[in-house]
Amino acid sequence: MPTIRPAALRAVTELIARRMGSTEAEASEVADHLVRANLAGHDSHGVGMLPTYVRLLQSDLLVPNQTAETVLDAGALLVVDARRGYGQRMAADAVRRAIARAGEMGACVLALRNAAHVGRIGTYGELAAKAGCVFVAFVNVSDHAPAQATFGAAEGRLGTNPFCVAVPGSDGPSLLLDMATTTIAAGKARVAYNKGTSVPEGALIDADGKPTTDPTGFIRDRLGALLAFGRHKGSGLAVMCEIMAGAVAGGMRADEPYGDGVLNSMLAIVIDLSKLGDAAAIRGDVEATKAFIKSARGAPGVEEVLLPGEPERRSADRRADGIDVDPTTWADICAAAAKLGITAAEIDQALGANAG
Ligand code: NAD
Repeated sequence: MPTIRPAALRAVTELIARRMGSTEAEASEVADHLVRANLAGHDSHGVGMLPTYVRLLQSDLLVPNQTAETVLDAGALLVVDARRGYGQRMAADAVRRAIARAGEMGACVLALRNAAHVGRIGTYGELAAKAGCVFVAFVNVSDHAPAQATFGAAEGRLGTNPFCVAVPGSDGPSLLLDMATTTIAAGKARVAYNKGTSVPEGALIDADGKPTTDPTGFIRDRLGALLAFGRHKGSGLAVMCEIMAGAVAGGMRADEPYGDGVLNSMLAIVIDLSKLGDAAAIRGDVEATKAFIKSARGAPGVEEVLLPGEPERRSADRRADGIDVDPTTWADICAAAAKLGITAAEIDQALGANAG
């Protein structure tokens, strides 16, 4: 399994995004996002997505350097249609606009429609938190076969529909809840398939609606579906993510005919803490609440009670010197690069030049 320094992985990713047609700025945003997802421990949303992005590009389902359309700009309401633009830049640009608007109005409701895969939603929570804003996002996934079976269903109807809440700390989020509403994200089933391992029990059903831990049918043959986390409650949140991002925000809905793409739409609420009240006092109260929760005795086998966002921060510390990329994922990335005419020597050069 190659272990690659973050700067080197970033350089290879930027090379691929540039060759996909992105400007330097867009390629940099994409590379930053993907490598940070790997650092956070979410390989499902890291550089392993590149082969999918190349496939989407070559099917005209992802548009580099897209100009988003502002559908509505009315005070605290912002509606933006990304028109299949490269998701990482489309979403970051839209959230930056919402942060600026929240700075003027106190809060902003952002409806982002139809971006190509926006990746790890926590990235946008981090962006907002760094600017002193609370961030709440309901996201749906559309334009491909439904991956999630809602509570009681034996077949898929929804995407993995992530939900995210970020609360600012002194520099970035103090708390960051960022999760798929399925027991595991679809990309985690892909990672398990690539590694030849199984997925946890209770995460997946097969084509007959029966529980399975083998990701082969789901990833290779697109059969079966992931289950919502937390029975009817997680399933209810998944339904609301679909409704908020689809019907309410105006993004592509789960009930519309789908193709072979990946679209994300999002309804996000951004609140500027300094407009809501005494930001320092609110932050103090957040920290006090966190400390109280963490002071609980651990359950048997649990050394420390963790809070949302802590596992990702610890992973980033652990991986700062090197990110392990499994051989199948690395081979897939190199094959995708080759489809863009990138040679092995160019990849080696990007890796080598950033080895230190
Ligand atoms: P996960 O299950 O690893 O973590 C979910 C949340 O639980 C995180 O906030 C994490 O900090 C917290 N957590 C994890 N372990 C914890 C512990 N022991 N104690 C306390 N809190 C803990 O995440 P996931 O559901 O697999 O999602 C992975 C990523 O996939 C996310 O970044 C999400 O945005 C992304 N995603 C994106 C899409 C898309 O279409 N763009 C779709 C689905 C998921």
